[in-house]
Amino acid sequence: MNIFRRHPKTFAHGIHPPEHKDQTNSLPIRQFPFAPALIVPLKQHIGNAAVPVVREGQEVTRGQLIAEPDGFVSVALHAPSSGIVRRIGLAPSITGEMRPAIFIEPFPASTQERLEGEPCDVETATPSEIIQAVQQAGIVGLGGAGFPSHAKMQVPEGKFIDTLIINGAECEPYLTADHRVMLEQPQDVILGVRYLLKATAASKAIIGIEANKQDAADSLRAAIPDGAPITVEVLPVKFPQGAAEMLIKVLLGREKPTGARAADIHTLVFNVTSTSEIGRLLPHGAGLQERVITISGSAVRDKGNYRIAVGTPIRFVLEQVGLADDVSCVFLGGPMMGQALSSLDIPVMKDTLGVVALTERETGPLATRKEYACIRCAACVDACPMFLNPSQLGLLAKHGQFERMQDELHLSQCFECGSCTFVCPSHIPLVHDFRIAKAALWKARASA
Ligand code: SF4
Ligand code: SF4
Repeated sequence: MNIFRRHPKTFAHGIHPPEHKDQTNSLPIRQFPFAPALIVPLKQHIGNAAVPVVREGQEVTRGQLIAEPDGFVSVALHAPSSGIVRRIGLAPSITGEMRPAIFIEPFPASTQERLEGEPCDVETATPSEIIQAVQQAGIVGLGGAGFPSHAKMQVPEGKFIDTLIINGAECEPYLTADHRVMLEQPQDVILGVRYLLKATAASKAIIGIEANKQDAADSLRAAIPDGAPITVEVLPVKFPQGAAEMLIKVLLGREKPTGARAADIHTLVFNVTSTSEIGRLLPHGAGLQERVITISGSAVRDKGNYRIAVGTPIRFVLEQVGLADDVSCVFLGGPMMGQALSSLDIPVMKDTLGVVALTERETGPLATRKEYACIRCAACVDACPMFLNPSQLGLLAKHGQFERMQDELHLSQCFECGSCTFVCPSHIPLVHDFRIAKAALWKARASA
């Protein structure tokens, strides 16, 4: 036995949910058809909503600017298809709130050629020109965070970044869109990394990928130019490896102090598909109007990874791929960190990672799933990657003691990975209760 074998890099705690990635990880990216009506929300990211620059009845060309950023923490929006702006008004969102959106009716017979603008050349552009180009391209964190990428690229005054982390972990079950992007578009990813390195003045970048995507790691390694300060690290499979905190720990051995930002410990983390879009769009001065999404789960007939126009209604997506009769629930994102949908009338957004539909055979009868009392087994404590005490947090949540959850048990450090809920034998919806507590605290502080 080789006792000197290097211990694999990983983080403490975490879980190993069934991956289900084999349903789509070998399926190449396919182009999805346009829906008869597209709903493009003005706010698809953290920060200010974009401001429309088109009017009702106006014809637009695919890729045309339709809304401009409102301030620095805001990004541009582009027409996902050529067509007519039918309406600017309210549309349903995942939270149940109605939010402003631009409704576009695509031209069915149009060539759908994409409008391009002023190219941004990685060799000649200055850091601030790259940051501005990313804002104008409308790129946000496509890994689900939805934070405007250009705002993250702007290194705060007095700070420096030594290492960029490119997040290709994609640890969420079912999802394989990042995997296919890395495998099929390695040149875009590497060019995107070069833009990021130049804009942030970081001296190197590490692309972190889980071992279940070895072919993607090989594809990226082959695309790295000789001498480029970019490396690919293959990590053991573990959930939630794709959380920024975990990757920083695993790849750099650094801990982010409570309340600190990644830049405070000299790093920034970018999702690999966001990085790929930077490499794909900036050389053409084009805007983000579509993204790669995994459509999977036991209830989906034509599973796959699709390039889908932003604004495509989820109802249309599911009609096209076909659903089993005994569909039990539909998640936007994956089953761990995604959200169960209560309405299919919301659109695909820039931060939509996937749509996962499961049958009742897989989920069991959700409506009648019984919640039992906590048996203090500590499985949730062992699972929590942030070393919180989900059991205690859950008890306080049940009694509405939200302030104590924050003051005594550091609720804000919970990034809602769902690991505690997954392992709980009593079926206590811990992460759901934590979200409610956080929302109540946020509301109370906003009105104080
Ligand atoms: S408490 Fe939060 S961070 Fe910890 S396992 Fe539960 S959801 Fe994840
Ligand atoms: S896993 Fe569930 S039952 Fe076990 S201690 Fe945590 S909350 Fe209680």
